[in-house]
Amino acid sequence: MKLIINNLSKTYDNGVKALQGVSLEISNGMFGLLGQNGAGKSTLMKTIATLQDADSGSIWLDGLDVVKHPEEMRKHLGYLPQDFGLYPTVSAEDMLQYIARLKGISNQQQRDDQVDYLLQKVNLFNVKNKKLGTYSGGMKQRFGIAQALLGNPKVIIVDEPTAGLDPLERNRFYNLLSEIGENTIVILSTHIVEDVSTLCNEMAVIGTGKVLLNGQPASIESSLNGKLWEAQIDKDSLPAVSKNFTIISQRFHLGKMIVTVLAAQQPDERFTAKKPGLEDVYFHLLEQQGRNLN
Ligand code: ADP
Repeated sequence: MKLIINNLSKTYDNGVKALQGVSLEISNGMFGLLGQNGAGKSTLMKTIATLQDADSGSIWLDGLDVVKHPEEMRKHLGYLPQDFGLYPTVSAEDMLQYIARLKGISNQQQRDDQVDYLLQKVNLFNVKNKKLGTYSGGMKQRFGIAQALLGNPKVIIVDEPTAGLDPLERNRFYNLLSEIGENTIVILSTHIVEDVSTLCNEMAVIGTGKVLLNGQPASIESSLNGKLWEAQIDKDSLPAVSKNFTIISQRFHLGKMIVTVLAAQQPDERFTAKKPGLEDVYFHLLEQQGRNLN
């Protein structure tokens, strides 16, 4: 299956150009859409989910014209929005039963089977009778995935699903997402690089409404092979380093400052070669973007 997004643009009434000619091809598997807050991710997700119209451009799911036939798209769609509201006094099981009916699963037995199956899958079966208002952040997000999976959708969209989860919950959530079928398109939008590097086989970076980078994380990482150097430095020598070299990132490790710089050769004897990670490429891209804007 293939989702083809072609030259999508959207300008909001206040003049913000949230999407500026976005084109992407998304196949089965986990696709990561990475970008900072305000990059245009939610606008794109909502447009694919047919909750919002673009000004121009097209979206195709195999032979289906999504813009012309949003109701057809909705039959194949599971969506976990960023601001996922829950009815706090309803139990997980009752809520899933209700949503299953809305999604058109009219056969009671089928509904029961699917609700049971999904509650098991997201590891909430033992707490299925508890009110949703009593769930932790991680449990709520797992419930959100269960409701998105009702009706066996072909396209699943999850918008910033790990924001606000603690590391343990995030790990559980990663495991759950990675188990979703290979025959499904899963689009995961996030500002967290680790979400993409852990889970996704294809990705795009979006910034100010444009696709800045698109490909497989591994080959995107390798674009900086041999160009990254890392050193532990005194905080005081940071200005000198930043004057002479392009700093990709600076972080503290055990109280010491570690800088990563971009250079064709070893900058000086303090620096050792660093194997590039997705975060380095992303930071480099943001740094370049920032320079272009200034
Ligand atoms: P992201 O999901 O990457 O944070 P959004 O798609 O939410 O990005 O937002 C992209 C840009 O569009 C931002 O500048 C945001 O302020 C603006 N924006 C989003 N929704 C609206 C809206 N309904 N009206 C006006 N501007 C909006």
